[in-house]
Amino acid sequence: SKFKTALKKTVNVLNTDLRDIVKEGRLVDDAFLEEIFALMIRTDMGVASASKIRDDIGKKFRARKVEFSDLVGSAKETVREIMQQGSADVNFAESGPTIIMVVGVNGAGKTTSIAKLVYRYKEMGKSVVLGAGDTFRAAAVEQLTVWANRLNAEIITGKSGSDPASVAWQATEAAYNNDHDICIIDTAGRLQTQSNLMDELGRINRLINKAANKVSEGSTAPHEVLLVLDATAGQNALSQAKGFSEAANCTGIVLAKLDGTAKGGVAIPICQEFGLPVKFIGLGETPDAFAKFDVDTFVDALFD
Ligand code: GDP
Repeated sequence: SKFKTALKKTVNVLNTDLRDIVKEGRLVDDAFLEEIFALMIRTDMGVASASKIRDDIGKKFRARKVEFSDLVGSAKETVREIMQQGSADVNFAESGPTIIMVVGVNGAGKTTSIAKLVYRYKEMGKSVVLGAGDTFRAAAVEQLTVWANRLNAEIITGKSGSDPASVAWQATEAAYNNDHDICIIDTAGRLQTQSNLMDELGRINRLINKAANKVSEGSTAPHEVLLVLDATAGQNALSQAKGFSEAANCTGIVLAKLDGTAKGGVAIPICQEFGLPVKFIGLGETPDAFAKFDVDTFVDALFD
């Protein structure tokens, strides 16, 4: 139901206009199928997904009359097929702390999403340490410190302008040494086109692994590299997914700001083109406005 509320705008586009397309007992022909395609495109699901939905409907129903429920059933089936790998859980460490690195462009919702993750894991009774790796912006460290205090998590900060990799190192060490369950490491926002800054993410990633190995031999970290994407960024979110997944070895997506956008369909091509599972969705500005992503729930919410 959280999903449903969040996807309301996307659903409104799909539902109202899909009903319009089938009314008056039209036969499924090319014009009909192009209307389906155009409608799907408006949700930002991308050309490949929209084409597949159209083609699947064409295969099943060409030259026939269809009901609204036929269209919805077919579209759901197609999206489920596309997003098969999209329902992954967080990859928790088998033993010791789970180290989660968080990356993304400025303004995507990184800080808020970290607060939501902390809230989620604290609610589960886990102990959490944060690494304030955005040493570039003093305000980012301050903001994260406020959340850490409010949510009762340890936080490791460095001096302004200090090496973010050293903060990541210290946070990783603290996670193992202080027996935390979860360690979340922030990084400064950057654009996927800034290649030196993209390389830096690779370096931070390697240093986290080194730190984990120093404290606990044979560990592999980080366990997750979550890319936070702004769902309202539409197709630009796709180019971010491409740039970051290559440079930072991303393992999953947090799709923030899914509330209030008609472009919720963007989760589909992210999954289809980059094989990156959407792990969480952001549904508002408060720490509890967050949900685990689930393909079936998503598909049902999208079309119902
Ligand atoms: P950062 O620069 O990536 O750290 O972005 P912030 O976490 O500071 O978020 C930028 C803005 O987006 C803030 O005003 C947040 O309150 C807002 N925001 C973040 N996530 C969500 C979400 O899921 N839904 C809504 N509606 N707003 C969000």
